[in-house]
Amino acid sequence: QHFLKRIDRLDPQLNSLITVTAARAMRQAELADARLAKGEAGALLGIPLIQKDIFCTQGVRTSCASQMLDRFIAPYDATIVQKLDAAGMVMLGKANMDEFAMGSSNETSWYGPVKNPWDVTRVPGGSSGGSVAAVAAALAPVATATDTGGSIRQPASLTNLTGIKPTYGRVSRFGMIAFASSLDQAGVVARSAEDAAVVLREMSGFDPRDSTSVEKPVDDYVAGLNQSIKGLRIGIPSEYFAEGLAPGARVLVEAAIQKFKELGAVIKEISLPNSPLSVPTYYVVAPAEASSNLARLDGVRYGHRADGVKTLEDLYKKSRGEGFGAEVQRRIMVGTYVLSHGYYDAYYLKAQKVRRLICDDFKAAFKDVDVVLGPTATDVAFKLGTNADDPVAMYLNDIYTIAANLAGIPAMSLPCGFVDGLPVGLQLMGNYFEEGRLLNVAHQYQ
Ligand code: GLN
Repeated sequence: QHFLKRIDRLDPQLNSLITVTAARAMRQAELADARLAKGEAGALLGIPLIQKDIFCTQGVRTSCASQMLDRFIAPYDATIVQKLDAAGMVMLGKANMDEFAMGSSNETSWYGPVKNPWDVTRVPGGSSGGSVAAVAAALAPVATATDTGGSIRQPASLTNLTGIKPTYGRVSRFGMIAFASSLDQAGVVARSAEDAAVVLREMSGFDPRDSTSVEKPVDDYVAGLNQSIKGLRIGIPSEYFAEGLAPGARVLVEAAIQKFKELGAVIKEISLPNSPLSVPTYYVVAPAEASSNLARLDGVRYGHRADGVKTLEDLYKKSRGEGFGAEVQRRIMVGTYVLSHGYYDAYYLKAQKVRRLICDDFKAAFKDVDVVLGPTATDVAFKLGTNADDPVAMYLNDIYTIAANLAGIPAMSLPCGFVDGLPVGLQLMGNYFEEGRLLNVAHQYQ
């Protein structure tokens, strides 16, 4: 009730939620109460959360912030929704986001932009802008989020939160609406590494319904939080401190490196030579996969259907033309182009080869260091509307986050200070399945 009241009072200004599920929340809270009364224990029993509106929730609208799915009521729960419900969590609502998770500012949502609680004239980052705004404004203690190219980490950085994108395959994608299937990964945003660890432990694990889910036991992320980081080898990639990083953010990240030294870590300069190629590689691979994934939304089976059409071709064109926003249409066009006969070799195949090089950079780095540290975003949150007419400028927001998705490694963002009252985040990247180590390092720092 406390959180629902805060949502009522504060969310009209922030717009962090697309749907509030008050009645469902009260039912779940009563169930949690009954379980507690029976003596059941559980770290998450009765803890409220917000689900990003990319996760299917049975009987509840699941829009992906698109007009295309405005009236879509999911017929089943995503695996992570099922798991967190079973742990006794109480879902307060569904978070706003960029349409189909395409964006870095939460301005592409059909339901309108989300405002950053630290300064409501600024963006909260994207695509998980609703998830972070809600948690930063204490409308919920935690929220789920997804990260295809930085959508957990960049918004966490812009709102002073801790957000983690686990290894590709660690958390089930069943029931998570696909954007770019080889990059998409679910995770969590919270107010501390400890909170994130508790929720991630519950979300993780093998799921036979997701063919990319990995059959490997889940480490106890919570039990490992208090390990000392003395002797931990931290790699600092020179490419992440080149031009483009705002001076204020650089000072804070450098101060954080100093603090890690004081905690006993060993700092090593490293190189990830192919990282400047991450943005162009991602913006070929991600749209290619998106164009294929979104082909199912044709106005026939489900989703928006245009009125007054005469032919089948007309039905496709009008339904998709009306249902998808400008950024989604741009991605579909780019994706279709790079996959076309005659262009496939020059773009898609080439991008896949560069992706391998980026991946190999990390494999080489992790022979010498345990974690890689750098900035999460180039600067603090920007003003709403700043990059509205310049998609390429918007894409450059993802410069430090995309490589982790291309390689499939775990990565997280944690708060590292303020510039003129606006938060700056610090990024940690780890080797495959080392999310436990990242959370431990973050917890020691916090
Ligand atoms: N900003 C990136 C994009 O627009 C990443 C989005 C994401 O991680 N979902 O594609």
